[in-house]
Amino acid sequence: MFKKILVANRGEIALRIQRACRELGIKAVMVYSEADKEAKYVKLAEEAVCIGPAASPLSYLNMPAIISAAEVTDAEAIHPGYGFLSENADFAERVEKSGFQFIGPTPESIRIMGDKVSAKQAMIRAGVPCVPGSEGELPDDPAQIRRIAKSVGYPVIIKAAGGGGGRGMRVVHTEAALINAVQMTKAEAGAAFGNPAVYMEKFLQNPRHIEIQILADKFKNAVYLGERDCSMQRRHQKVIEEAPAPGIPRKLIEKIGERCVAACKKIGYRGAGTFEFLYENGEFYFIEMNTRVQVEHPVTEWITGVDIVKTQIMVAAGEKLPFTQKQIQIRGHAIECRVNAEDPFKFMPSPGRITSWHMPGGPGVRVDSHAYNNYFVPPNYDSMIGKIIVHGDTREQALARMQTALAETVIEGINTNIPLHRELMVDAKFMQGGTNIHYLEHWLSQHKR
Ligand code: ADP
Repeated sequence: MFKKILVANRGEIALRIQRACRELGIKAVMVYSEADKEAKYVKLAEEAVCIGPAASPLSYLNMPAIISAAEVTDAEAIHPGYGFLSENADFAERVEKSGFQFIGPTPESIRIMGDKVSAKQAMIRAGVPCVPGSEGELPDDPAQIRRIAKSVGYPVIIKAAGGGGGRGMRVVHTEAALINAVQMTKAEAGAAFGNPAVYMEKFLQNPRHIEIQILADKFKNAVYLGERDCSMQRRHQKVIEEAPAPGIPRKLIEKIGERCVAACKKIGYRGAGTFEFLYENGEFYFIEMNTRVQVEHPVTEWITGVDIVKTQIMVAAGEKLPFTQKQIQIRGHAIECRVNAEDPFKFMPSPGRITSWHMPGGPGVRVDSHAYNNYFVPPNYDSMIGKIIVHGDTREQALARMQTALAETVIEGINTNIPLHRELMVDAKFMQGGTNIHYLEHWLSQHKR
């Protein structure tokens, strides 16, 4: 096992990884930007290195600064968390070339999955069902593009091969709007992701977003840890996640879970990963794979009892997966609410100083957050400041626990989306379960403030 790991991230996930290291008896080196020196995990750290100014390109995306920090502190491995450099194959390669273990899959796996076109092709080869669409990247010729759209059938969605975080997508309903949409998405993708390649998919009308968590080791052992339902999204970004997914027959989950495991074995995948699917009319359609730990991993941890972050570290250190598929049992129901520093009805970020902070507790309540009373939320990063996660024997109990937890929560000094979560947790349709990916947008348009 490693003696020392460098955590190349910030926010709640930096704290989450630090906690996992403590439990494993591993020293965690934290890195931070000038804007984050007040963060809880920096204060709690045995060792912490400032890697640059607030702007991410100069700190959390600064590969030489992060690798130098690992060198000077004698760390053996680097955990990239999520976001930032976590899905950057060049970074994984540089980490390994510098003599450190990258806590994640191989650079080749990251590269294949990082390009959504090559990821889909790999999945088709591995027998994972995908959304129907263009065979690969769209050609330049407008006539050919029109032909492809016609055969896929409108509405279609144009997606950037290098896209992520819900950006670089455009829905097209008619042939008249097609070519312009392709060109705009290409231009945006080139500017935002450095890769102008786009592809086309059938735009599914009312799907749910269902994803399968997997864990794999270097010895081609792989398991799936059930599914998560992440359909409660705004602007293609997840707001509430839960596991298991309400109303989907276990047999279907088992079938798709086994497909994912087989695909992992086929591509020699190691570490934690998520296969994302759209689910409509009893069918799963692969959309992309995330080659890292996800924000919403706690709901899976709670229903399976598996510590995903600890297992990531163990398999990166060369250990075998400590459990088999048969040993994975699903117990109860878990729900996560992402806590964002924002005005949820105006979709406006709300950084600043927290003047009052009280987090909920009691049976079945978990809070993952790096914030605290008097913490200053820097304006430079993602607005998520934590997550409230609950578990119950049933979905009804989990909902009741989340309602109680949200009622107890106090965050003052900044705006947060807690008021939105409070309303959603008593919304009749959400309480029923099984809402689709458009539900939250629709709800927001009906509840304008
Ligand atoms: P990203 O990498 O930016 O998260 P994804 O490919 O995972 O992009 O898609 C994000 C979200 O966009 C999905 O959860 C879904 O809400 C929507 N979406 C993507 N592809 C389709 C599609 N073919 N039909 C309908 N909705 C889609």
